[in-house]
Amino acid sequence: MVNTVPSENGNFLFFKGFLNIKSGITTRKFGDCNSYYLPLCKNPAAEKKCTAIAKLTGNNFFHRMIPRHNDGICFASNSNENCDYSCDALALYKGKGKAGNLLLAPTGDCPMVIIECERGFGIIHSGYKCARLNIAVKTIGRFISFFSAESENIKAIIWPGIRGDCYEVGPEFIDYFGTENVYWLNGSFRIDLAKLIKKQMISAGMLAHNIAIVKKYCSFCNNDLFFSARRGDKERNLIFAHTP
Ligand SMILES: [Zn+2]
Repeated sequence: MVNTVPSENGNFLFFKGFLNIKSGITTRKFGDCNSYYLPLCKNPAAEKKCTAIAKLTGNNFFHRMIPRHNDGICFASNSNENCDYSCDALALYKGKGKAGNLLLAPTGDCPMVIIECERGFGIIHSGYKCARLNIAVKTIGRFISFFSAESENIKAIIWPGIRGDCYEVGPEFIDYFGTENVYWLNGSFRIDLAKLIKKQMISAGMLAHNIAIVKKYCSFCNNDLFFSARRGDKERNLIFAHTP
């Protein structure tokens, strides 16, 4: 089970007790962490925010995802500078004595997966477009080949973003994901993406008990705490993950 623990000043929500790595999400109070549009070299405000998270989590450098709503997977190097990566899954080798590198990835309502094996960890952006491309399954495949991981030993936390009952979708989602994943509620179709991602990860050999969904929050319902694209927010929260 994942425990969610807010930071004292309310700037972060930490995910505790399921993975060996540390992870969490920034809140509305921490402010906008959008990385969709501008690379760091043209975005000093974003660099400042990311540097602040690195400092607060005890890291020296950060690696930031610029999501493409596609299925690109990047492996960051344990470098001595802050970097941007155009991809929807960003991974890092844990290394030995290489602590101090932080992974960051933005979310508005999209589910995010924090994934860990013995030698590495990563963040997967898995909104419906990436989920259609099976990005979680592809990332597991890369963890197996790149980190020599065994699927039954990989663990993951899923941040649900917008929860199923709040996520209204069109009938085309039945073509995308089948009637087994799309349901009818109060006059429209809905899909529980976190549940779908969990199923995809199990199909790739992960064990159900190694996948935990953060059940307490929904970016749409808890719009007082988190930015939500469906509520019209242009701002984004950041998922962060790093070695202890
Ligand atoms: Zn909700």
